[in-house]
Order: sequence, then C-alpha cells, then structure tokens
Amino acid sequence: TSNTSTAQQRLIDADHAHLLHPFSSLYSQKNKELAFFESGEGIWLTSASGEKYIDAAGGLWCTNVGYGRQELVDAASSQMSKLCYLHSFSNFTHEPQIELTEKLLSLLPSGFDRIFYGLSGSDANDSNVKLIWRYNNVLGRPEKKKIIARESGYHGSTVTAGSLTGITAAHRAFDIPRPGFLHTVAADWHRRPDHIATEEEFVRYLADELEKLILAEGPDTIAAFFAEPISGSGGIIPPPAGYFEAIDAVLKRYDILMVADEVITGFGRTGTWFASPRYNIKPDLMTLSKGITSGYLPLSASVLSERVSKVLYSEAEADGAFGHGFTASGHPVCTAVAMANIDILEREKLPENAAKVGAYLQNQLREQLGDRPFVSDIRGEGLLMTIEFDKDKETRTPFVQASKAGHFAIQACHDEKLVIRGARGRALAAMAPPLTLTESEADQIVE
Ligand code: PLP
Repeated sequence: TSNTSTAQQRLIDADHAHLLHPFSSLYSQKNKELAFFESGEGIWLTSASGEKYIDAAGGLWCTNVGYGRQELVDAASSQMSKLCYLHSFSNFTHEPQIELTEKLLSLLPSGFDRIFYGLSGSDANDSNVKLIWRYNNVLGRPEKKKIIARESGYHGSTVTAGSLTGITAAHRAFDIPRPGFLHTVAADWHRRPDHIATEEEFVRYLADELEKLILAEGPDTIAAFFAEPISGSGGIIPPPAGYFEAIDAVLKRYDILMVADEVITGFGRTGTWFASPRYNIKPDLMTLSKGITSGYLPLSASVLSERVSKVLYSEAEADGAFGHGFTASGHPVCTAVAMANIDILEREKLPENAAKVGAYLQNQLREQLGDRPFVSDIRGEGLLMTIEFDKDKETRTPFVQASKAGHFAIQACHDEKLVIRGARGRALAAMAPPLTLTESEADQIVE
C-alpha cells in the first residue's frame, strides 16, 4: 500500500522471493498482497500498517484465551530461565509435563490413563496411528492395520496425517493417501444425498456405508476409525443426532478402535472442555493440540485409554523398546505454558462463555443474515460455527465455483477488517474466535 515503508517493502519482497507458505497457491502467491500483522490483543489483530482487524477465525481455530496474555508470556519466561529444555526420552522428566498430564487426565472424560506429547496435531495423529499398529502387533494380529477416516475430515498434513485427511485438495500431487488409509462418507447433513429425508435415515445410511467398507476390505484388516466430533477445516460439520452411537455399534461389532481428533474441539471450543461426551463418543484414543496452549507455543497430546495402554504395557511388551518420540516431546516450556493456559480457561470459565456467547452469536447471525440471498445454512456449536453460501438456498445447490465464491466472501470480510476462514470446495464464512468473546464483540462480528 502507499504507506508501506521501504524497510517493510524489503521484507515483503523477501517473503515473495523465499517463503514457501503453507496451504498457498505456489504460482499466484508470488504476486499476492500479503496480510502482514504485527501484534494481537484479545480478539484483535493489528496489521503492520496499524489497522485493527477482528480475528473471528482465532488464528487457525486455536487462540482460545485470546492474543496478548501476559500470564502466558510470564509462564514461558520463568520456565525458560529455570530449565529451557529437557528431553523426555527413557527416564528423564521434569515438573511441568507431569503436572500437565495430571491436569489433562482430570479434565478428560474418564477411562484415559496415559499421555504422549508431540508438537502438532499432525504428529499426534501420526503417533496415534503408530500406537494403534503396535497395539495390534502386541495382540498378535499384524494384519489388522488399515485405518478408516472420513471425506471432508482434516487430521493434518504429514504423510500419515495427510493420508487420514479426507480433503482431495490436500492430497493432490503428493501421492497420498498412502495404501491402507480409507475414507467413508462425511456426516454432512447439509450435503446429504437427495434421497435422504430425515436425520435418522441419514445416520442409518452413514453407518451402512461404513459397514460396507469394512466388509469389503475385510474386518480383520481394519484397525481404527478416526473422526473429529465436528469436522472443522472441512467445513464445520456437526454430526446428525445419533450418528456416533450408530458408528460405535459398527466399530464394536468388528473390534475397531475409535479415535476422536479433538484438535479443534478440545479446550472449551464447543462450550464444554471436550466435545466427545456431548456426542456420546467413547474414544479409545484422543488427539489434542491447538487450544492446549491457545497457539502460544506448539504442543500436542496423544491420549490413550486404559484399554489401549494396558495392551501396550502388557507382558508381551516387557522387553520391547518403544522406539518413538521427538526431541521436543514434553518440552518444559510448552507444557508450562499449557498449564498456565488451562488455568486461565478454568478461572475465567471460558468453556461456559463459549457456550453462552456462541449461542448468542449464532442466533444473531440467523436473525440478521438468515434471510439474505445465498445464506443457505448457519451451523456450529459453541464458538465454532459457519455460514454456508449456496447458489440456490432452497435446493442447497452449491455455486459452480464454490471455492471462488468462498474466496470472495473471505476477501469481502477482510476488506471490512474481519478475518474468517473458508474450506476448499465450499463457500463459507467459518469462525472460531477466542473464547473470551463478549456479546458486544459478537455484535461487531455480525455487523
Ligand atoms: N486435526 C485437526 C482436527 C485439525 O484441525 C488440525 C489442524 O487444523 C490437525 C489435526 C493438524 O494439526 P497441525 O496443523 O498442528 O499439524
């Protein structure tokens, strides 16, 4: 822009010349105007040229306590001065990771008893896949290894997590999904097939589709099913009533493990600490990240139920080395910041606030925007929601170029200093603002 300084222009040129941006368009990115931000406070981001934006997307659905919390800065600084790094391999340990583990187990639904730490949602899903493979090796059934996830599911972008992900745009030209990773139909009521009339019918259809896939592959070859309670990056897709109960029945029939990927839905995002209990999901493993530190530092957790850990710690494994882990597993500074972050979420009752202000925001969106042309759905839970735009809202017919329509919505909001997110192949205004959101801030988003 005209008030861009020479120093800033140099940075912009260097970015264009040398940075490979995640999830970008390699060719058009070269000339793209950069969204250059410098600071953040609460729900607000300030751009390099001093303009204030509402970050209704909460970064990548992760800034649960909001930007600029001095308490988290102090927790990091104090831990960094005391013990900046310690590995956790073998018998090495430190206080922050033990305290965090006890805290998480007290907040999680019952039945979990062991936690492995990593740094990203992707690596936590990779770890869960390896733990599941090992589980079946210990049980003496090495052929039970295939994993089923869902179309429109997002589980990350490493080779394994990207294979779990059911979004074709994340597969294109990367030779993923790898063999042994399968996808079943998304529980997407808004994009249901035309012959489906009721939610009940839809749930039966989805459970049948899953069972058909299991039978076609051979139940003895299927190890686990991965799902987000509400699909996030794929388009904010809450499950129809009774969905996870029906899926659970199918999984039980064939002794298949259930993994709840709560990377987005965890830590109060949907109005409760975790979303699994609301949908009667009884996971054997869970994946956590994002809200665990509100994005202040990278951290993830692979959470094991007693059922899984009992097998991994059984006699059969007594002499088996566990050859898995990262340099930064259980990093003292990241785990200390996670503890301080959870303190804030608890003390300020932010999950409760997400439920209350989330319901308010969703109501306001319905009241003020529901009747507008193209607004064909408004859905979500707590402070995770989206507006979906379709060419014909009565028939739910999407725009021919839905991604392009979606970009248009994102750009239009950006011009109004509002940051939202879309989803590949859909036209959305998806939101996951900090859980500190007030009703008056919600009004500003709607306006
Ligand atoms: N799982 C879910 C549900 C996610 O939304 C994401 C990221 O958006 C991931 C996993 C991957 O996390 P990361 O980007 O930290 O690897």
